[in-house]
Amino acid sequence: MRPDLLNPLFAEASSLKGVGPGLARPLEKLGLTRVKDFAYHLPDRFVLRRAIANLDEASVGEQIVVALTPRDYRQSAGRGPFRVMAEDESGSFVALTYFGRASYTAKKQLPLGEKRWVAGRLDQFGQTWQIVHPDHVSDDSAGMLGQLNEPVYPLSEGLTQGRLQGLVHQSLAHLPQLPEWIEPGLAQRMDWPAWHEALPLAHKGEHKAARDRLAYDELLANSLALILVRESNRSRQGTPLHGDGHLRAKLNLPFDLTGAQKRSIAEIEGDVAQGAPMLRLLQGDVGSGKTAVALNAMLIAVESGAQAALLAPTEILARQHADTLSKMAVGTGVNIALLTGRDKGRARESILMGLLDGSIDICVGTHAIFQEAVAYRNLALVVIDEQHRFGVGQRLMLTQKARRTPHCLAMTATPIPRTLTLAQYGEMDVSRLDEMPPGRQAIDTRVVAQERLADVIEGVGRHIAKGAQAYWVCPMVREQENDDMAAAEARFAALKERFGDMVVMVHGQLRPEVKDAAMERFARGDAKLLVATTVIEVGVDVPNATLMVIEQAERFGLAQLHQLRGRVGRGSQQSTCLLLRGDALSETGRERLALMRETQDGFRLAEEDLRLRGGGELLGTRQSGETPFKVADFEQIAKLLPLAHDDARLLMERDGGLSSPRGQAARVLLYLFERDWGVQLLRGG
Ligand code: ADP
Ligand code: MG
Repeated sequence: MRPDLLNPLFAEASSLKGVGPGLARPLEKLGLTRVKDFAYHLPDRFVLRRAIANLDEASVGEQIVVALTPRDYRQSAGRGPFRVMAEDESGSFVALTYFGRASYTAKKQLPLGEKRWVAGRLDQFGQTWQIVHPDHVSDDSAGMLGQLNEPVYPLSEGLTQGRLQGLVHQSLAHLPQLPEWIEPGLAQRMDWPAWHEALPLAHKGEHKAARDRLAYDELLANSLALILVRESNRSRQGTPLHGDGHLRAKLNLPFDLTGAQKRSIAEIEGDVAQGAPMLRLLQGDVGSGKTAVALNAMLIAVESGAQAALLAPTEILARQHADTLSKMAVGTGVNIALLTGRDKGRARESILMGLLDGSIDICVGTHAIFQEAVAYRNLALVVIDEQHRFGVGQRLMLTQKARRTPHCLAMTATPIPRTLTLAQYGEMDVSRLDEMPPGRQAIDTRVVAQERLADVIEGVGRHIAKGAQAYWVCPMVREQENDDMAAAEARFAALKERFGDMVVMVHGQLRPEVKDAAMERFARGDAKLLVATTVIEVGVDVPNATLMVIEQAERFGLAQLHQLRGRVGRGSQQSTCLLLRGDALSETGRERLALMRETQDGFRLAEEDLRLRGGGELLGTRQSGETPFKVADFEQIAKLLPLAHDDARLLMERDGGLSSPRGQAARVLLYLFERDWGVQLLRGG
């Protein structure tokens, strides 16, 4: 149960004054659904204004506050702007310019002959000064001069800065006093303010100590929760598996395992022989051969008379895994079944029976395989594929429903830097596939200007004419999902005009049947060109697809581009990746794309990505979903996470039940950051 003192923070957004149904959508888009979300909606930056007595002191482009007296209204002809001509104390004039239907408000705010304080950006319009849509107009000089440093918040359509500022302000008025969870010595050394002071400070100005403290809170909550998962796991009873190798001996793979694959399998074999359940991460770049490792691990379970399950993030991938595994395991006599949310009626019943009576050895599927109704005779190992978004903790919890906890192998192709590995996977043991199967050819990667689109399409035409296949990736940006969908649909329509039936499309909004049908046509080779949003990022394997076009490549993170590119270069043919770039490319953007051309080492790209972003392009990364954090940015993660991790471990060593005063405070912290699954794992907690 959430501690009562957090209730005001978890109250619905609608409990704030002025939040009606009209604002619900724009607020939801920003993730602002509860009072605490507003308090934690931290400014991207601050506008610094200078108070001036007369306009001649200021320069063009400067943010100012100045006292003005309106003298005249001027409505331009047609749909032109409305202007209020206003005079400063020295007699200089400035045009306060309003577009659209703002003249009514403007006249009300700026009555002729009455002095007002105006804040905004000073521009030049012909020979006169101009301020377009002043940020603030007020007769309260003290109020205006108290706002010389104003927060700028991330917005969504339908929201204004003023509106959001008001709501954030209200939320901060609800802050309870929370017990301190940070070790006093550390807070003192870092000069960090207390929690209920830190939040208002972070909204007031560039207060580094306050921001760091808030980030640290989040990192500490995450570390604690992951350690709790780990501890809880250690105290559980697993099923020790001692495979005798008789099934693995019958595996007839068309290749020899790489050294890294053999080593990983041995590590897994060592883990699953233990009494405590395994909690291991298998980290290997796209194409490094994780599937073969997973199959070996699952066969160990089956050799020991137990069952194994493989959890895939999408139906497409579940299907593909079931196919691949069945082919690989054909000589072993092992029974592999596919179970997805779409299976209904008799087919589903018969799979459920097979899992219950043990005639099915390996079950592959989406999260449907862990639904309440699905019971296993003896599930001893769960493999989770492409576990690269956060939520690891919750997934692991899922596996802990069974009487005996299954061993867990999480696989990820995201070559995240070491600091982030710690953030996302906590204390999991890690096996790395750091060696690629032999014979892989480098992917010829080129950066091409978007203006050369027509040439690119011709190139795709020649490629297809040779019988090969290609991917066409359209960008997907969270904030404007619909626009992106529209862009992908439009590109699809255009390519279809050129290539006809040979083109298929998949994106997130399509019904699963439609998506699967398209994927299947592409995988069979009937369709030659697959237009997609980043849906294809994970897992899909079509060796005959040897060309990839990525539109607006600068919009993707390096790690993501790397993942996408990994879809080609899977067969023996030389593959090509064309990165189309827009013309407004930043310095960092340029550097990123150059790196893509230069290297194919996923781990190097991940480290560089972190470095490049740490160096300035932080804006927006907090919301990008690439880390499990909302408050902490990359720089803070790198700097503070190791500290938080050690601190969390120390706290757990001293007070494993979180029952001391500081332990109690830490429980509040876990609830505050919604890592309460951690608390629930506490023995007797
Ligand atoms: P990922 O790690 O991306 O899941 P896969 O398991 O899909 O990689 O393997 C990629 C491709 O490499 C597959 O076609 C697979 O058959 C092949 N492969 C895996 N291991 C080896 C190996 N040791 N030697 C040669 N090819 C391999
Ligand atoms: Mg894979």
